Amino acid sequence: MRLSLNTQIFLGVLLGVLLGLLFAQLGTEATLSRHGLYVGGLVSTVFIDLLKMVLVPLVFTSIAVGVANLRLHQQMHRVWVATLGFFVVSMAAAMVLGLTACNLFEPGKGLNLAMFQTAMHGFDAKQMTLADFFSKFLHGLFVNPFAALAQGNVLAIVMFALFLGVALVLGGERYRTVLALLQEGLEITLRMVGWIMHLAPFGIMALLAQLVASQNTALLASLAKFVAVIVGTTLLHSVLVLPLMLYAVTRIKPLAFFRGAREALITAFATSSSSATLPVTLRCAEQHLHVKPDIAGFVIPLGATINMDGTALYEAAAALFIANLAGVELNAVQQLIVFCTAMIAAIGAPGIPSAGMVTMVMVLQSVGLPAEAIAILLPIDRILDTVRTMVNVQGDMIGSLIVQKLVAGDAARGTRSRTAN
Ligand code: ASP
Repeated sequence: MRLSLNTQIFLGVLLGVLLGLLFAQLGTEATLSRHGLYVGGLVSTVFIDLLKMVLVPLVFTSIAVGVANLRLHQQMHRVWVATLGFFVVSMAAAMVLGLTACNLFEPGKGLNLAMFQTAMHGFDAKQMTLADFFSKFLHGLFVNPFAALAQGNVLAIVMFALFLGVALVLGGERYRTVLALLQEGLEITLRMVGWIMHLAPFGIMALLAQLVASQNTALLASLAKFVAVIVGTTLLHSVLVLPLMLYAVTRIKPLAFFRGAREALITAFATSSSSATLPVTLRCAEQHLHVKPDIAGFVIPLGATINMDGTALYEAAAALFIANLAGVELNAVQQLIVFCTAMIAAIGAPGIPSAGMVTMVMVLQSVGLPAEAIAILLPIDRILDTVRTMVNVQGDMIGSLIVQKLVAGDAARGTRSRTAN
């Protein structure tokens, strides 16, 4: 009997958690744990390396082809507006949830920064003002495409591929060979993704075993309230807010969505990287959720680099948490500043593990909080990163379905009014 890929992945998750618990119980220095974690390390590294191997050709070809084909249908403008509009609205909704929960539950009150002096001691936070961040972000957008491709710089690849897509459109028939080549490149890469997915159950099992075995439970317990607020609100956004937005626009039921999206959601959870998950996200959107390749090829790679609901929620909520620890009361205006900088920080964070931690320095500094305080969050970041990355990736898939529906609706209305005229 051959199990479906979904069942295999599910078994991988289960076994991974069980093995992790066993290793934690035995102690990570015990022979069995050491050997187990060593093999797990090899398997998970190969899995993530394989995903990264196809990532660059996939982002490059899918955006260039996606943009070129959008124009063919005269939809470019509508898709842009709908995509960016959705990204901003969904990230804002996530942050409102996070900030409201923090104001209600006040995690961190009662603890104080002095308790964490040893963690903060010797932690050298890099200064990152909003102005520094902007100039660095802008500077990173337009890069020699060969360097960007070679270094796997996803944001710069997205920008160059957008330019290429537009140039292909304007060039029309003249460049049809280049377009055909890119199209075939995209198909071939997706075929390879299909092969790599056979390793997913093992990769996911190995990643989860390592994650569970390496958790510092004592620290998690002392920050339990904060962890509960973050996980709770992020999941609320995932099972309530995003599915409601999806249902309101497309009438797609949440269960149908989660069934189609689960491979990508589990991969995101295990890898904590939207970029590494991107090949799987694209595959789920096109093959299981039936998003047209033109739309998915545009919305999903762009979303993987800039649309991060989970990260935005986390950065905003963590700023309030640190303020509580520091005994500082943030007023409405300061919370608005946190809201705006957290959105920019989430947009600017690359889709890699713990990226949100780096850009969070800027959010803390925007309201004068001590940047060193993120040293407290670093040890628990790996566990929180799982859930926020999963929701980041979920937002991208929901975005592609919503954009597809909005654009189709607009196109139908456009055709009707043209015929009426
Ligand atoms: N790990 C997240 C992602 O890849 C980014 C973050 O650290 O928040 O989407």
